[in-house]
Amino acid sequence: MPGLSSDEEVTLLHYNRGNYFEWWAGFHLAEEYSKSPHPEHRTLLAQCREEHIDAEVSKSNHVSATAEMEFTVTAGPARVLPLSLEGVLRISSVTDETGKKLSFIQEDRKLDNDTWIILPEPAAAGRVYKVKISYEEDSTRDSRIILQEGSGLYFVGARTSWYPSFGAFDDRTHFKLRFRSPKKYKFIATGRRLSSEKSGDSLETEWESEIPYSVVGFNYGDFVDKTQSDQNLTVTAYGGREVPDELKGVTASLDIEQLRRGSGAGDIASRSGIMTGGFNTASSAAYAAAQSFQAFKLYEFYFGQLPFKSISVTEQPVGFFGQSWPTLIFLPYTSLLDATTRNSLRMQNSAEEREFYNVVAVHEMSHQWWGHMVGWKTYHDQWLSEGFADFSAALYIRKTEPNKFKAFWDLRRRHLLQNNSAGHPPVEVGPLWLSYQTNSYLEPRNSQVLI
Ligand SMILES: [Zn+2]
Repeated sequence: MPGLSSDEEVTLLHYNRGNYFEWWAGFHLAEEYSKSPHPEHRTLLAQCREEHIDAEVSKSNHVSATAEMEFTVTAGPARVLPLSLEGVLRISSVTDETGKKLSFIQEDRKLDNDTWIILPEPAAAGRVYKVKISYEEDSTRDSRIILQEGSGLYFVGARTSWYPSFGAFDDRTHFKLRFRSPKKYKFIATGRRLSSEKSGDSLETEWESEIPYSVVGFNYGDFVDKTQSDQNLTVTAYGGREVPDELKGVTASLDIEQLRRGSGAGDIASRSGIMTGGFNTASSAAYAAAQSFQAFKLYEFYFGQLPFKSISVTEQPVGFFGQSWPTLIFLPYTSLLDATTRNSLRMQNSAEEREFYNVVAVHEMSHQWWGHMVGWKTYHDQWLSEGFADFSAALYIRKTEPNKFKAFWDLRRRHLLQNNSAGHPPVEVGPLWLSYQTNSYLEPRNSQVLI
């Protein structure tokens, strides 16, 4: 299963060509079960202990970078090592520590563009190797690493594969990141910021991970920021000065409706309940900083201290999902709108939607513990991350809005017990431990409900 942490030798899939596939089962070899009912022997082929990335994000939001990786091969001997790197990032060279060119495989990006580096000779287990990989984006509009979604607003995609690794969320690496980015924008990356300097047209920033990270990333844009801090913690929230094009489309269609009906029809925007100036995500940055700060303090009390002193909560110009990288949280811009505006735009008509907006920021904050401090070895345990993040959101609600606490769990209970689209209650489909195997084409949400 691509993208899944698995050490199982046998996988059974049902593949309906061009339409869908279902993951039916995963097993170890028969002889392994004679030793243990739950065999587990997962090791990475290689482990990168140190990675330095020197990257440029250009004015036209193209990415180019050089990454120096210091790694050991776990079991050895291994000569050909698979790397995770987005196919539109084309490698120009791979060299060893003496500057000698190494061979690599990166097929056409329209084909199977998996990347492999080839060592001059089989690597011995435990010995430290260094490689330097240079790459540059060569993409078309629909395959960009970073998409522009409005004035000064960018969606950073390829969040796990904008840099080479032996597998995001599998490997843990100490990172040093250096970025050159357009001077007029704020730039935020994972880790502790070591320096920030303007030179010419660029902003140059350096970042270092406090502990080995399982993933690194960045966000940037024309942001306004608000900070809440005490002597131990600084939470800064970054909201876009402008709203994404997607939302501008909504305001534009209201304007057109206004014109069509003429001035006698009254103010459509106010009749639709959309207040003038309501689309100001920047004004919500202060609220996001305060809520995230409060969530951090609560989780620190329950789950223990983190090695991070500073967390950035940043807007992403797409709605309906959030994401948490170490010290860097991405929130959907929709969650930075005020509730009245969301109501007017009919973004939160259901109980599920209202709850999503209510907890998305605190849910993502809890992933600093669940997912980044406590990870998973194989997919069987991956539920720990989402499961405890959900549980953490409930803790926050109990503390801040106790009257909503019961409704939070009632909603989950209902999802578990009521029939899904195929007529089965998810609670009866199978154990959580089977992960996506509990899903099928007709029942795509079982695993999500179980978590
Ligand atoms: Zn989550």
